[in-house]
Amino acid sequence: MIVIDEVRIFKEIEDRTPASVSLNGPDGILPQVQETAIRISKKFGIPAYVLADTTWGTCDLNSNGSKTLGAEIQFNIGHTINTESFEKDLFLIDAFDDVEFDSVAKKCTILLKGKTISLVTDSQHLHQVDKVEKILTESEIKVKIGKGKGQLNDGQVFGCEFYPASDLKKEVDAYVFLGQSNFHAAGIALSTNLPTYVLDPYFNEVREVTEFAQKLKKKATLAIYKATEAKSFGVIVGLKEGQLSKVFALKIKKELEKEGKDVQLFALTDITNERLKNLKGIDAFIQVACPRISTDNQFDKPVLSTPQANALLKILRNESIDEYLEIPHWL
Ligand code: SF4
Repeated sequence: MIVIDEVRIFKEIEDRTPASVSLNGPDGILPQVQETAIRISKKFGIPAYVLADTTWGTCDLNSNGSKTLGAEIQFNIGHTINTESFEKDLFLIDAFDDVEFDSVAKKCTILLKGKTISLVTDSQHLHQVDKVEKILTESEIKVKIGKGKGQLNDGQVFGCEFYPASDLKKEVDAYVFLGQSNFHAAGIALSTNLPTYVLDPYFNEVREVTEFAQKLKKKATLAIYKATEAKSFGVIVGLKEGQLSKVFALKIKKELEKEGKDVQLFALTDITNERLKNLKGIDAFIQVACPRISTDNQFDKPVLSTPQANALLKILRNESIDEYLEIPHWL
C-alpha cells in the first residue's frame, strides 16, 4: 500500500495557511492522492485540486497547471529525489510503498548465489534497499549499491538516468531491481548491457527483463535505420517544464541540415502518434523531450529520442553506433 507523507503536507499548510492547494502524483498512486486531497479539504476547509494530468517525474511536475489554478502551494507526491523543495511554492512529498520484499528476496537467492549484484530501485521502494541487501548478503550474494548523482539518491534510477547502476557496470554480474517496474529495469539493462532482474513483491516473482530490453533496443535501432532514409525531419521540443531542450533541438536541426536534410521545428506537450499524424510532409521525427517516449511507444513513422538522434548522425557520417544506449543518462 502506498503511504503518503501527509504529516509534512499538513505541516506546510498549517505554517503557510494557503487559500488553496494542488496535488499530483504518478498515475499508479492517484487514488491515494485523491484521498489526501479529501482529507486536506476536510481538515483545513480549503480547495485541494488533484492535477490529474500525467506527472512522469520531476521533469514533468505540471507546475504550470497549478499556477493556472492559482493554487498557493503545489504538492508533487511520489517522486522522491535528494531534495525536498524545487520551485517556490512547490514541495516534493515522499510516498513509500510499504510492501515487504522478504519472501521474493529469498526466492532470488537460489538464482544469484555466489554472484555480485547491484541493488537498484525507484522512489517508492528506496527504504527497502538496506533490508534486502541484508537478506541477499546472508545468502552469499555480494551486494553493491551505486552512489547517487544529480537528483538521484544512492541506488535510485529514473527511466532515463542510471548513474548508480552505470557506475558499477564493471564490478557486478547483474542488477536486481526492487519493485514492479519493467520500465525502469529495462532501462538499466539497456544502459549497462548486463542481466537485470525484477524482484516483484506483489506477484512474489523474480523475472528477468534482459530479453524484453533487447526487444526495445531492436525497435529503437530499426527506427534509427529507417530515419536514415528520411529527407524531411520534424524536430520536436517538449513543452513539459523539465523536458524543454531547445538547445539540443537547434543543434540537431543544424547538424541534419549539414547532412542535406530539410528540418522543421515543432513543439508539443504530449508527443503521441495521434498528434504527429496531423503534421504533413515529414518523413521522420526527432523528439528531444523524454527519451522513453520513443523507445517505449509505437509510432507510424520513426520518432527518435536524443541518443537515437546522435546515433542517426553517426550513421549518416559512416561512424559506428555500437553501445549508443549504454550511457548513464539518455538526455
Ligand atoms: S524517463 Fe522521461 S519522464 Fe522519466 S525522468 Fe526521464 S525524461 Fe522524465
